[in-house]
Amino acid sequence: MTASSASIGFNFNPLERHSDKRDDHAFLELLRSDPAARFIVFDGDVPLLKRGSEYEPWFLASETAAFGQPLHTVFLGEDTDGGGRFALAITLNPALNSAPEDPLPDAGYDRIDLRSLALRDLVAARSLGMLAEAKSMLDWHRRHSFCANCGSASRVTTAGWQRVCDVCGTRHFPRVDPVVIMLVIDGERCLLGRQRQFVPGMYSALAGFVEPGETAEDAVRREVMEEAHVKCAQVAYFASQPWPFPSSLMIGCFAQASDTDIVVDTNELEDARWFSRQEVAAMLAGTHADGLSAPKPFAIAHHLLRAYVEKGSSVLLG
Ligand SMILES: [Zn+2]
Repeated sequence: MTASSASIGFNFNPLERHSDKRDDHAFLELLRSDPAARFIVFDGDVPLLKRGSEYEPWFLASETAAFGQPLHTVFLGEDTDGGGRFALAITLNPALNSAPEDPLPDAGYDRIDLRSLALRDLVAARSLGMLAEAKSMLDWHRRHSFCANCGSASRVTTAGWQRVCDVCGTRHFPRVDPVVIMLVIDGERCLLGRQRQFVPGMYSALAGFVEPGETAEDAVRREVMEEAHVKCAQVAYFASQPWPFPSSLMIGCFAQASDTDIVVDTNELEDARWFSRQEVAAMLAGTHADGLSAPKPFAIAHHLLRAYVEKGSSVLLG
C-alpha cells in the first residue's frame, strides 16, 4: 500500500488476517478466549458504538454475552496491538432499531452507520478499516444463505470466510465487486460529473462497475464514453479503496482525454463538465466562487482530485 493509499478512508487495516489458519480451530479458540480478544457487533448493517469521550466499536467477550447467540461470527484477524478481532452479527429488539442512527439510552451504545462514521470522523482510522471488513463480510452472510448452484441452504466454514453446500459440494467465497473511479484529464482541466443524489453543488470523478471479461483500463474508457461521450487514451492506476456498501473495491485511475466534447448521458448523470485545476483546488478548499464542492477525504475521489491539483497532468505517468 502506498502512502497516498493509506490516508484514504477504510484503507488502513492493521490486521494480520491469518488466512492460512482459518481452519485451525485450536488457534482460533485460543485467540477468541484470550482476554485481549475484541468484537465488533453489527445489528443488521449498522455497527454498535460504545459511548465515551469518543465512540468505541470494540466490545469485550463478556459484554457481547448480553446480545445472545450471534447470527454469524467472522474472524477478522489478529491485531498488531495483540489479540484476535472478530465480527458478530446480532439482532436487537426491532422496536429499538427503526432508524439507522438511534440513541439507545439504556444500553450505553448507539447505532451509527458506517458512512456517517467515516464522514464525521467518529472512530479511529485503524478501526474504520476493520469495520469495513466486518460490514462486507457480515453483509455477504446475510444475503448468501443459499447455494447459488443448487438452491440448498449452505453453511459457514473457515472462520466465516467460506460457505459450503453439503448437497452439491460447491464452495462459495465472499464477493468483492470492482468499480473503476477515474479522473479524466485534459492538460490543465479535468472532467467531473454530478449524480442526482449528490448533495447540492458537489461534483466528483466518474465511476462505474467493471464488467465480466473487461480490464480495469477498458472499463474506465467504456464508462467515460457512456456517461460523457469523451474518448480516453492512456489510463494510469492511482490507488484502490475498499468500499463497504456493500462490498466494492474502488479502483482509482487517471485517464488522458483524447477528445473533449462532452455529451452527458442524463440517465446516469445530472451534469458533467470540464473544471480547471484552479477551480478544483477551490472546491477542495471550500472556497469555490459558486459554492461548488468536492467529495470529502474519506472518499478516494477526493484523493484523485487532490493529487491532480498538486501534480497536474504528471499524475498520468503513474
Ligand atoms: Zn449446492
